[in-house]
Amino acid sequence: MTQQRIALFAGSFDPFTIGHKSIVDRGLQLFDGIVIAIGINPAKKPWQPLEQRIALLEKIYADDSRIKIATFSGLTVDAARRFGASFLLRGVRTVADFEYERQLADINRNLSGIESVLIYALPQLASLSSSAVRELASHGVDISPYVPTI
Ligand code: ADP
Repeated sequence: MTQQRIALFAGSFDPFTIGHKSIVDRGLQLFDGIVIAIGINPAKKPWQPLEQRIALLEKIYADDSRIKIATFSGLTVDAARRFGASFLLRGVRTVADFEYERQLADINRNLSGIESVLIYALPQLASLSSSAVRELASHGVDISPYVPTI
């Protein structure tokens, strides 16, 4: 049997948006499985509690055995190894993202040999970010158009 091609999609996902979901869904054309790994930063208080982010993701992907939900702290490449992922999946929205992602990919490859696979954001989702969603929510705006429906 050929080896399964597993990718790690790591991020804060605070919250997980339809932009993130689009990268996961489109990534499934390339990979047999994707581990969505929520990075935990003990120094930062998240907007959406970790347990809630995990529960939402588990609900969104409950019917898709190709998707696993995990959490990690520390280096992304260590998490990738731990979860059996040989690739890092990332999304690129803007030129700014591109340079940031290029540096990350370089560092992660140097650390581990693990390659990053970048997928361009769909044009209609390229201005969507978790921080924009948080900002809208803080002003009482309904954020349901920006997060996956369950
Ligand atoms: P981080 O905390 O690492 O920035 P995020 O949760 O914001 O994590 O993002 C994780 C990944 O998802 C990054 O590669 C980011 O570029 C990508 N991403 C975020 N929003 C979008 C979007 N609207 N379209 C495509 N990719 C996105």
